[in-house]
Amino acid sequence: MDINQLGDRILAGDRRALARAITLVESRRADHRAQAADLLDRVAAERRQALRIGLSGTPGVGKSTFIESFGMLLTGQGLRVAVLAVDPSSARTGGSILGDKTRMERLSRDRNAFIRPSPSQTHLGGVARRTREAVALCEAAGFDVVLIETVGVGQSETVVSEMSDLFLLLLAPAGGDELQGVKRGIMEMADIILINKADGDLKAAATRTCADYSGALRLLRKRPQDPDGFPKALMVSAVEEQGLAQAWEEMQALTAWRRENGHWDANRAAQARYWFDQEVRHALLSRLDTAEAKAEMDRLSAEVSGGRLSPAAAARAMLATIKAD
Ligand code: GDP
Repeated sequence: MDINQLGDRILAGDRRALARAITLVESRRADHRAQAADLLDRVAAERRQALRIGLSGTPGVGKSTFIESFGMLLTGQGLRVAVLAVDPSSARTGGSILGDKTRMERLSRDRNAFIRPSPSQTHLGGVARRTREAVALCEAAGFDVVLIETVGVGQSETVVSEMSDLFLLLLAPAGGDELQGVKRGIMEMADIILINKADGDLKAAATRTCADYSGALRLLRKRPQDPDGFPKALMVSAVEEQGLAQAWEEMQALTAWRRENGHWDANRAAQARYWFDQEVRHALLSRLDTAEAKAEMDRLSAEVSGGRLSPAAAARAMLATIKAD
């Protein structure tokens, strides 16, 4: 594959080239990794940026319906929208439930949209890197907005928020008056909480839920990256396409403020440092995955359990063997 040519086609906005490039970054083959690295360096030189929006919510809350309606609103304004997914469950099921085109039928037919489901990977680290690289490729291909969808499981929200400029949390109207057990850490990540399904019989419950979250958000410590009034809770109906334009206006206002005040660039720089750190850790850990390393671990482990080596001495011996390559 000619990487320069592929890079040129991506920069020209060719969606098939983009899809091929994402397949390349998903590959674990060493030669593919090297080609992917070349390609990413090449397209990064253009320094194109999209607005990266992370979106999280438990299954059934209406993520795909929201992405479809919201995506159509954006393409209707002439914007190009890419949808990617971080789906840790796909490692178990072998298939992705997120970013599935059949769940976003209208958007998947829209020429200004690009939808890519999460690949099945065995660990979140692999999915994280692949998604980050796919985001960079979408930016190079000239997309204005990249939506990164995830379900609220484990660490996936952290992964998504560390590659997003804005983080949205989608919630359904609560039956009772409790705060749905949303973890504080996740609430703290959100820039905007969207209470979906604010329509029909659920409207009243949505209004209460929105008020509850507005109150809860006011109790959080003010973050330097937020203007007054953020983070905030809003009501939307993805099905009836209500509140979406207002939500988009709020996102744009927040983004504009952050750009003007230097928070956009500072956040991107902090994210780059975070992923550098993660890559180093990841690479070091992967050195323990070889057959030789595992055999050495087993041998040293036996020494430790027999009391012949202390855990610290055995660890030093182990580290000396993996440092070599
Ligand atoms: P996901 O699992 O988070 O992607 O959720 P889906 O988008 O598949 O939606 C789950 C269910 O909620 C479906 O039956 C949708 O029709 C319904 N739903 C999604 N958005 C809305 C909404 O705005 N109002 C109502 N009443 N139902 C909705």
